Amino acid sequence: MPTINDSLTKSDKKSKNKDHKRKHQDPEPESEPALESTKKDKKKKKKDELANGSELELSEKKKKKKKKQKTEQEQEPKKDEDVVGAVAVVGGVDEVRQSEDNVVVSGKDINDPKYKALSTFAESNLSDELLECCKNFAKPSPIQSNSWPFLLHGRDFIGIAKTGSGKTLAFGIPAMNHILNKRKNKTSKKVTPLCLALAPTRELAQQIYDVISEAGKPSGVRSVCVYGGTSKGPQISALKSGVDIVVGTPGRLKDLIEMGVCQLQEVSFVVLDEADRMLDMGFEPEVRSILSQTNSVRQVVMFSATWPQAVHQLAQEFMDPNPVKVVVGSEDLAANHDVMQIVEVLEDRARDERLVTLLEKYHKSRRNRVLVFVLYKKEASRVENMLQRRGWKVVSISGDKAQRARTEALQLFKDGSSPLLIATDVAARGLDIPDVEVVINYSFPLTTEDYVHRIGRTGRAGKKGVAHTFFMKENKGLSGELINVLREAGQNVPTNLLNFGTHVKKKESKLYGAHFKEISADAPKATKITFDSDDED
Ligand code: AMP
Repeated sequence: MPTINDSLTKSDKKSKNKDHKRKHQDPEPESEPALESTKKDKKKKKKDELANGSELELSEKKKKKKKKQKTEQEQEPKKDEDVVGAVAVVGGVDEVRQSEDNVVVSGKDINDPKYKALSTFAESNLSDELLECCKNFAKPSPIQSNSWPFLLHGRDFIGIAKTGSGKTLAFGIPAMNHILNKRKNKTSKKVTPLCLALAPTRELAQQIYDVISEAGKPSGVRSVCVYGGTSKGPQISALKSGVDIVVGTPGRLKDLIEMGVCQLQEVSFVVLDEADRMLDMGFEPEVRSILSQTNSVRQVVMFSATWPQAVHQLAQEFMDPNPVKVVVGSEDLAANHDVMQIVEVLEDRARDERLVTLLEKYHKSRRNRVLVFVLYKKEASRVENMLQRRGWKVVSISGDKAQRARTEALQLFKDGSSPLLIATDVAARGLDIPDVEVVINYSFPLTTEDYVHRIGRTGRAGKKGVAHTFFMKENKGLSGELINVLREAGQNVPTNLLNFGTHVKKKESKLYGAHFKEISADAPKATKITFDSDDED
């Protein structure tokens, strides 16, 4: 079957690789980057019988999948747009519905009454013990209300939703329901993992684990969290004692599989959280290898902030041909309108003094949460030391730190004992940090998408926030995009930023085409770039 990649022109392919290479010069990669040619998931052929309600639907899905694949072979996409703009990546766009709260659902048969969005938790018909963790919430969040009906009926699912939207329970509760159903039909008493959740960073994995392990207590669902940078011993013991859900980062999980201490053959519910980030960070080979270890009949859930070509490809290979796609909020690169954005053009050497002045203004009480973003791991330590020398109580999270120190710093920030945090993009990505009043971008990120993510750490849950950004002449390639983000959100655009130019590099789509047009297959394979203090995930 022709792949989306086949439809790229040679120059598309060249620039695509350039983008890939640039991404791997990201000073804070947490794994080995590599662009591997794809292998078909051999396990697809080996089918095990499924034994419960939602899985009956999976069996049906199997048949439909074969039929659909046949149809697809006959319907090769004609041009890029056919693929790029499509909502259901593999099976084509069938139906679309949009709700008042700005949620767009698309995919096959989505208007079937059984997939109706939930208005209350009770409508899910889930047991009290599964819903125990939601008892303090008034109603399902938009992503929960629109994902549960599909996930509880065994559909593969693509979610575009931000951290803080309730997406962990959006997949976590159906994952636990899946486990409980499977258990009913299981004859053997041996506990083997039935669900897997992969996340790009240790912090995100830990955050997912915290939510899921707590939510699983009433129903006795056991989880383990595995990630690198920390001893394997306790993780191995937990795996050996029997767990239902494995949450982890790809590098460490692959290690444990290779050691023979983690068996995923029975895993039939797989979640890839922050899928785009996972691939950006070079985890593609590990993700593929891990997915191919799971049961060939499985339900796959992907959450991603963007939908670039590499994620398409992964979905195409490992998902049902008719996944449902749910987008919460805008798909476009739009900043949260509750955030006041201030951009200041300045010179590199002026940043330290200016940062201190800003902290005196924004962090006067020394009690409100302020998050300072930097780009490099080394920069995080340098800025942290500089501020400590000047008497500020500050902590930092970056890949340079040992896992324990990262967890501790994050905890101190979250519980308010050290409300000033320096973070790199990779370490902070996807974290649910409540009540951040101010975000300061000490260094501008490598992409405008990252800028939007960063400033989205503030102005949450209906509160107002401030994002104060240093922009230097080194960043001028992104001035046009930044100006658009500012204008779209009705923010002031400083004249000296305009002086850098308003040109925006042509992109197919902010969400879908950003990497697509710029990645290449005929250029040399990405090679491993080693950084002196890379984490081993
Ligand atoms: P996420 O990181 O997307 O899983 O979002 C987690 C945050 O959403 C946590 O602060 C939860 O307490 C909150 N949350 C999850 N579900 C709901 C809900 N139904 N209503 C309100 N808040 C929720």
